[in-house]
This record gives sequence, C-alpha cells and structure tokens, in this order.
Amino acid sequence: MKDKNIHRLLFENYANYKETSIKSKMISHNLLKSLIEKLPDNLFTVTELGKSVEQRSIFSIKVGSGKINILLWSQMHGNETTATMALFDIFNFLSADDSFNEFRKQIFSNLTLYFVPMLNPDGAEKHQRENAIGIDLNRDAISLTSPEAKVLKQLYEETQPDFGFNLHDQANKHTVGKSSNSAVISFLAPPFNYEREINPVREKTMQVISSITNALSEFIPGHIGKYNDGYEPRAFGDNFVKWGTSSVLIESGGWQDDAEKQFQRKLNFVAILTGLDSIATKSYEMHSIKEYQNIPENEKFFFDVLLKNLIYKKNDMSFKIDIGITLNEKLDITTNTFYYVSEIEEIGDLTGYAGYLEFDGNELFVEPGKASKNSYLFDNLLTDNQLLNIYNKGITNLKTDFIGPEFHYVKQPINYTTNPSFANELKIGKPANFGIRNAENKIHSVVVNGFVFNLQKRNGIVKNGIII
Ligand SMILES: [Zn+2]
Repeated sequence: MKDKNIHRLLFENYANYKETSIKSKMISHNLLKSLIEKLPDNLFTVTELGKSVEQRSIFSIKVGSGKINILLWSQMHGNETTATMALFDIFNFLSADDSFNEFRKQIFSNLTLYFVPMLNPDGAEKHQRENAIGIDLNRDAISLTSPEAKVLKQLYEETQPDFGFNLHDQANKHTVGKSSNSAVISFLAPPFNYEREINPVREKTMQVISSITNALSEFIPGHIGKYNDGYEPRAFGDNFVKWGTSSVLIESGGWQDDAEKQFQRKLNFVAILTGLDSIATKSYEMHSIKEYQNIPENEKFFFDVLLKNLIYKKNDMSFKIDIGITLNEKLDITTNTFYYVSEIEEIGDLTGYAGYLEFDGNELFVEPGKASKNSYLFDNLLTDNQLLNIYNKGITNLKTDFIGPEFHYVKQPINYTTNPSFANELKIGKPANFGIRNAENKIHSVVVNGFVFNLQKRNGIVKNGIII
C-alpha cells in the first residue's frame, strides 16, 4: 500500500467502516454511550473525564502508544455533529483487521490519540451551540467557568498534546472565496496573537492542513476553504497554539442535497485519518505553508434558496429583483426531527450569488403570498387537490381560529395564521411566502416558507409550513 494512495483508499473503502447505527446527524447521548461501551477494550481505553452541567458523562477514548500525543475533540458546539459521526467511523476503522493493518501499525506505534467525542452533551441534546447555561465553550478556554471546558483543559494538561484536532461545523452559506462553490470543508491554523504571526507551532499546523487539503482536493476540487483567521483570545484552538500545540481546526460546511451531512462525515473520516497519517509518517514536513496560504478564504455568497430575475410591482412601478432566502433549521424535540423557518435575507441584485436551490423567474412577477379569506381548521388534513387549489390562488397562509400552544410548526406544506388581518411582506427578516405570476396574471409557482412549488410542472417540495 503506497502512502500517496492512502487517502484514495480511505475514500473508496469508507463504507466498510461507517457506523451504521448513526443514521442521522442527531446523535443522542444515549447512543453515544452505547457505542463507547461497545469499543473493544483490548485497543481503546475509555475514561469518564467528568460531567456536564446536566450531569451527562464526557468521555475520553485513548488509543495507540506512540510518542506523539494528539488530542481530538468534537461537538464542543452542541449542534455541530458531523465530526462526532466521523469519529465513530474512525473507531471502527482503527479496530478493524484488514489490508489497512500496516497503516494502523504506523498510527499506533507513532501516535497516542485522545478522542473526546461530544464535549458538549447538553447542547447536543437540545441541538444548540452553547452548553446548558448558555456558555459558548469555545469562549471559555481561559476563565474555565463551565465544567465541560474544565474537562477539556484538564485533559490537555495531562496529555500535553503535540497536535490537536478541533472539530466543528460552519454555516452552510460559506463559499470558497468569491466562487459559487460551497465550502464543504474549511480549515484553519489558528493564530496565537492579534498580529497573526507564524511561529513553528503554527507552521506545523499549516503543513498538516496542506497535507490534508492536498488529499481532499482530489474529491472536492474547488470546495475547500480557509476559515476566518481573526485571533480569538478566549478560544481553545488559539490558546492551544499559544501553549505549544499545533491545533488544526476543521469546519464542516454545506453540500447540495445533504442536510444530514453524510458526505461531510465521510470527508471528515478521510481528512482526520490522512492528517494522522501525515503526522505519524512526518510526511507533512514535505508540505509548504504556501500551500496553506493559497487556500481561498471563506466568503459568503450562498443562500439556501435563491429566486432570480423576478419583477416586483409597487406604486405603479416595476423593479427587477433577486431574493435570497435562509431556511433556519429548528429541532422539534417531541420527534427529534428538524423543521424549517424561512427568512428573507437579501433583496435586490444578487448577481454572483448562488443557492442550494435556485429558481430563475425569467421576468415572472412576484407578490407577497396571500392569506385565505375563509377560516380553516388547523388540524384538518388537506388533500393534494385542496392544496393545489389554494396554491393556484397565490395563497400561502390559511386563516384559522385556534392553534394549540403545543404546535410550533405545520407538518403540511402550508402556513397558518390566527391573525385575521395577516398579510405577508416582501421585507428583509420576514418569512418568505410568495405567489409568482406569469404575464397572463396566472399563478406560476408559489413559495411557501421558503420552499418553491412549481404549479406548471407540479413539482417542488415544501417540507413544512409555519404558524405566523
Ligand atoms: Zn463550532
């Protein structure tokens, strides 16, 4: 097995190691515990490091016996789960017995790995960034107010790692430079001061990142970004570099049609193992910091939904506009599934921007979605035909008299409102509900809670409506 092919072999053979019990990016602490319990104890040493604010256990998993210590931690931001999924794939890979054995031997004999999957289990349970009392753990490296940050710092003191892997998810709106490519994965060699100087510790981080991006660019050319390198004196990564640990930041971003981030999970698997291999074999030393510096910085030229070339009429005037829409992901804690709340983010000329979903209006007319005149019963299921009739009138919101307090969103593809004088607005910050008409004044498409349904082609998916 030649080293230069390792990343390709990892990529191609990933399915053999994918932890099949993790099907969704919502990983419960119970699932995490059960998977940790199953790890073979002849290879892995599991330690309970401490407990979160709400008394959930935080674990470290040690493997290998090499001289180089590496600390890898995921999900310090509770809603950033991609790397946690990948770490369990990596545990499966490390405990397998197959043609990668030589690779594993190299890792185990040169490196001692300390993994902390899901540093913020309380945030994970609520799918929120912060811990149970609202502290952002990545702003707590110095004051160590939270038990979770204390646990990480303590492990750091005990292991004095040479390298660190700080594993996060970034907003899916990032693009690679000014291109319209989503930054599916971004890297950073964090600075250790405001001047962003480069010392040998940071230089090594840059070299490891170069070895990883060099490998990944084979699979996702043009989709790798560099994360913003502003110095954050309260963050762990920045301080680790200051304290002498070459700390790699990995940020998983967005990818077309992959809300569950399974492709990014696979990329993390390849990236982390490739990085570990480059450290174990010291092959990162062949990479220059120039390679790192040449990675385009993250920019933000992406929307979840981009409506282009529409005409908006107001006060007897016509305006040609594009509309950029964000779909904010929310967790429904009763079913542990996600729903979406749309928001108009930008209106005007959005030339140069891209969207995961794009609709080219080609001079069609856009108007705020209408509210129904009649009242509907909220819990009455509408048939497809009823919905089509409603959409055909440009209606996106149904009036209703009462909605129980237990409802936060609508499972059917329509919005409801209890306000008798409700009207949608084309305005930044408002939900995206529109009727789109053709030159004959017939409804061509509707946008319901940011999702487009084309009545000509009868296609489009409205995942859920909202209650306004
Ligand atoms: Zn994060």
